[in-house]
Amino acid sequence: MFKRFTFVFLVVILLPVIFYAGWVINSLNTSEKILSQVYNQQLNAALITLNQYAWNQIDEWATSVDQLSGTNIDTLQDFLTRNPSLRLILTTDSLLSSIRLVGASAVHSVFPTGLRDSLQAKKDRLSQLNRFMAGNNYRKFEPFTLPSVNPIEKMVVVVFSSRNDPDRLLGFAVDAGRFTREVMRSRLNEVAGDEFIIGVLAGNPEQIVYATQEMENLEFKVTKPLWILPEYRIGIRLKGATADEIIENRLVLNMVLIGILSIVLVIGVVYIYRLVRREVDLVRLKTDFVSNVSHELRTPLALIRMYAETLEMNRVVSDEKRQNYYRIILSETDRLGRLINNILNFSRIESVRNPYQLSPLEVNPLVESVVSLYEVQFESQGFDWKFEKEEVAQIMADKEAIFEAIHNLLDNAVKYSGERKVIRIKTLKRQGAVGISVSDSGSGIDQKYHGMIFDKFFRVSTGLVHNTKGSGLGLALVQHIVKSHGGTIELKSSPGEGSIFILWFPARN
Ligand code: ADP
Repeated sequence: MFKRFTFVFLVVILLPVIFYAGWVINSLNTSEKILSQVYNQQLNAALITLNQYAWNQIDEWATSVDQLSGTNIDTLQDFLTRNPSLRLILTTDSLLSSIRLVGASAVHSVFPTGLRDSLQAKKDRLSQLNRFMAGNNYRKFEPFTLPSVNPIEKMVVVVFSSRNDPDRLLGFAVDAGRFTREVMRSRLNEVAGDEFIIGVLAGNPEQIVYATQEMENLEFKVTKPLWILPEYRIGIRLKGATADEIIENRLVLNMVLIGILSIVLVIGVVYIYRLVRREVDLVRLKTDFVSNVSHELRTPLALIRMYAETLEMNRVVSDEKRQNYYRIILSETDRLGRLINNILNFSRIESVRNPYQLSPLEVNPLVESVVSLYEVQFESQGFDWKFEKEEVAQIMADKEAIFEAIHNLLDNAVKYSGERKVIRIKTLKRQGAVGISVSDSGSGIDQKYHGMIFDKFFRVSTGLVHNTKGSGLGLALVQHIVKSHGGTIELKSSPGEGSIFILWFPARN
């Protein structure tokens, strides 16, 4: 029965709980991965937007320069003044045979050599720009960075073909640092919003040229080259913890929660399993109880009836025999009474909260009165018995209840004595307590049952007890009585060694 129960418990409850926890953790992992991908895509999209913005700005300037290139130097100079990120404008033919520079005189002296050399080095690529424009009617840019001492403040020269004159190349130098800090700044801040930090990087090792917020380290989640400014990169990350950290933290938190939930579930299931098991136990005990009790009721009734009938028919001649029959009838009536008493008492203690009336009680006379009920039985069944009393204090107790308790202990001592019929009844004293001890040399009780025999309906189902009928209520009743009086029960017993039950009650002050 319990094996099947354990099996059902494992298969129906525990395994699904474990599988469910596993499945949730796995799907959480998958959704975290998807989240992480979505987040990366968002970062990439933000960088593409910014790249496009920079490109559009350069394209706008290129259109203006193309339109102004035919006009006089002053207009171009004026254009440069209005756009401080632009340092110079160059005009040349596709063969680079004559290069004309317009720009602040201060930079003239710095750039020309480097600029000329760089232009010459790129001659082949530059000569294709005009062809590209002629073929596709599309303005292609050829950007390159001029050598510079400062690793992050560099000049980027952007060369492109003129739309108006297919033979002419135009270009300008962009102060990349200034461009990012002044032209791109508002757009960078706008895209960064409250959630992201965006920065422009250059140099080797990389340094920040401009960032939307101060950063302790240069850890960006995604970085991309800035299309229009070679050697410059743009990077983005989440403010505070990185998304990966957040996702990881969430994953750990989720796993911990699921772990706790599973443990709680398992504990709950185990708890319910034990409750159900207890109930099943109780149902079985109750069934046993019904069969035991009906036997307990029927046996004395049958005996009483048999002896009463015999007596009624006047068939018993000898006085001694008749006397014996009366005794049997009385003792069987007593046995019946005990059982009915126990059952009634039990239902009383289960329904009434405080069924006992306490008053000062002399222990020895009370114990004596119970023992006296057994004297005849002890003698007739050949018991070696003794009542050893000590001078003990009074206790506060319900006389009837204590009487019942001792009665039950004596009943058991007789029932479970077997062949070794030795019974001792004692009153004992201890600091502040009075004890009533009933011991026998009978079958004894295995240690593992010591905690259970006080449960209602519980009966040890082996050995002598197996053949002795009982209700399993006696000791439950004894325990209830003793506890209600603030006392304790001491039990010393092992199989074959007999048993000692001592009821300890607080002495009356
Ligand atoms: P009952 O005697 O009607 O079965 P009890 O509640 O009085 O019920 O006792 C519970 C169980 O404890 C008994 O079935 C028996 O197994 C065990 N028991 C009680 N007293 C003794 C004893 N003196 N010796 C051996 N076993 C005992």
